[in-house]
Amino acid sequence: MSHCILQIALDTPLDSCFDYRWPCEPGHEPAVGQLALVSFGRREVVGLIVAVKQETDVPPDKLKDALAVRSQLAPLPERWLALARFAADYYQRPLGEVALPALPKNLRVPKTVALDRALKKLSNQEARHDPTPAGMPVLNTAQQQAADAIGSAQGFTPTLLYGVTGSGKTEVYLQACAQVLAREIDAQILILVPEINLTPQLEANIRARFPGLELATLHSSLSEGERLLNWLSAHQGRARIILGTRLAILASLPNLKLIVIDEEHDPSYKQQEGLRYSARDLAVWRAHQLAIPIVLGSATPSLETWHHARTKRYRMLELRERAVKDAVLPRVRLLDMERDRPRDGLTSQLLAALRQRLERGEQSLLFLNRRGYAPVICCDACGWISNCTRCTSFMVLHKPEHRLRCHHCSLELRIPRSCPTCGNVDLQPLGRGTQRVEEGLQQMFPEARILRIDADSTRRKGSAQAAFDTVHRGEVDILVGTQMVAKGHDFKRLTLVGILNPDTALFSQDYRASERLFAQLMQVAGRAGRAGGGESEVLVQTRYASHPLYAAVTRHDYDRFACGLLEERRQAALPPFMYQALLRAEARELADAIAFLTAARDCLAADAIVINDPIPMTMTRVHNVERAQLLVESASRPALQAFLKAWVVELREMKTSRVRWSLEVDPVDI
Ligand code: ADP
Ligand code: ZN
Ligand code: ZN
Repeated sequence: MSHCILQIALDTPLDSCFDYRWPCEPGHEPAVGQLALVSFGRREVVGLIVAVKQETDVPPDKLKDALAVRSQLAPLPERWLALARFAADYYQRPLGEVALPALPKNLRVPKTVALDRALKKLSNQEARHDPTPAGMPVLNTAQQQAADAIGSAQGFTPTLLYGVTGSGKTEVYLQACAQVLAREIDAQILILVPEINLTPQLEANIRARFPGLELATLHSSLSEGERLLNWLSAHQGRARIILGTRLAILASLPNLKLIVIDEEHDPSYKQQEGLRYSARDLAVWRAHQLAIPIVLGSATPSLETWHHARTKRYRMLELRERAVKDAVLPRVRLLDMERDRPRDGLTSQLLAALRQRLERGEQSLLFLNRRGYAPVICCDACGWISNCTRCTSFMVLHKPEHRLRCHHCSLELRIPRSCPTCGNVDLQPLGRGTQRVEEGLQQMFPEARILRIDADSTRRKGSAQAAFDTVHRGEVDILVGTQMVAKGHDFKRLTLVGILNPDTALFSQDYRASERLFAQLMQVAGRAGRAGGGESEVLVQTRYASHPLYAAVTRHDYDRFACGLLEERRQAALPPFMYQALLRAEARELADAIAFLTAARDCLAADAIVINDPIPMTMTRVHNVERAQLLVESASRPALQAFLKAWVVELREMKTSRVRWSLEVDPVDI
């Protein structure tokens, strides 16, 4: 029997492609893009065939046979491989570390039981292929123009759909989808949302609108079984609409014809561990590769996207008005906490507004981006505070659970009865989280139905959905929540939004803090008054009522605010006018991390590249690991990319036994 050589990418660091022998007759070689089982070290692992050839440099006695080829699965398309290659190249990672984790776990195990079962299940079900949509509402003029512009776009057409909160962007996406599905036979459409919690509402909308079409969801809370089934459905071209969170951008979509990114400004599109990719940026690349339209929707676009729209690289479509009849943007008022001293965190004006909503039977939302009861407890007698012993951070008081918790390393302790240093039994919570706000409200409004939604209250699978359902059914009077409640939700009964304690972000070191704060305030404000009729209001409690950011929020004036920020960024040579990469180092001793970064700084110089000095990260220690970073910048993306490529080679050569390092391209938290 003759054989061929398979070049296979494995999920390993450093060089990730390896040659294996595969016995087969000429003309029966496996295809590029197929998965194969091989032995690697002492393990059996699944890899991706990236080339099929006749010869190899590996000496015959070292060359192993591949164990199996997953011939029951259609090869991953060449275009998908190109996407994985691009991402690997751009983010400076080996191909295998990018391509394989992008596949469902059940495809990457030695056994094929799960795969075979899923394939059988799909082949036994008739795929639904009927794109004539049901019950499309009549669009207003601006919506119709936008839907037509998107739906009829040909070729690579990046579009910013800039529409105020409640302007009916979802409806525009759905009708644009309908046009594409009606025109392009077998078309697939990818719709990305930032939050898992936003998928059920949109999923229900899509199912109602396209009852004759296959829909697949892809997000991290699917079971492995569901994930494999949905992934396969997309890979086989059965699923015509794919709705997912950021990880869905790496799905195999052979007939992709349109990409929609809802709330494109949202930081959740950035993966913050492992391969630190931007799903939004990869989506734009993918649309470009396939020469298809892509829509980025937001009321508060990211400055990157805004800049592209202003410089005409992206087309901009605008929706200036809310879609529901009589619905107008809420009035935003600033409540000066210096004048109106809060009680239990709430000023008298906010309390009065809450009382009024209760009397009228309307819903209110209090937004506070801090979970737990209090961010720290302290001893007035000796000054002890609840530091985490493993991190540069505090232990947060979680009162209902009777625990102190570190949100960074998950250390949990019982609440001490007395001060560990001086024995004082009167320990005080300092500051305020959602649990404490909830407790205060329960005392002040004992008759009100109060619901808290945050990461703690929604730990169980399905509990977030259940909580949002009770809000939609009107079984909640006052909703207290973190950013989980601020995004995208179409709450119909909400007429008051109170924003507690947003000031800290005004003075953050992070140059993106004001962009984020502004977007967050506009988004949460946008939850109010969506049903129309009656007035709606947003009250912002602040100690800095004269700050220009708040003035812009009261005017709902994203344009001017964004243009001002862009000008500041230009003058300070910050993104999007500068391209950045961040080298991070972790070690038991900070000195080791700094020494590594110093050596990294000095090992390679290049034109048009600025290599900054190493510095400890703001949160220096997490889980007893010390962390430092080094920022590299360039005004030219190609120059930065060329430098990084050469630099990574040098870094891999360096002796780093005591240091773990990672490189992030286009970092967002620095
Ligand atoms: P956005 O995503 O822009 O914040 P949504 O897409 O959630 O806004 O739409 C806000 C509300 O407006 C939804 O309740 C939606 O059903 C409604 N809506 C959208 N388009 C129309 C329309 N043409 N006529 C009436 N209501 C509409
Ligand atoms: Zn003490
Ligand atoms: Zn900790």
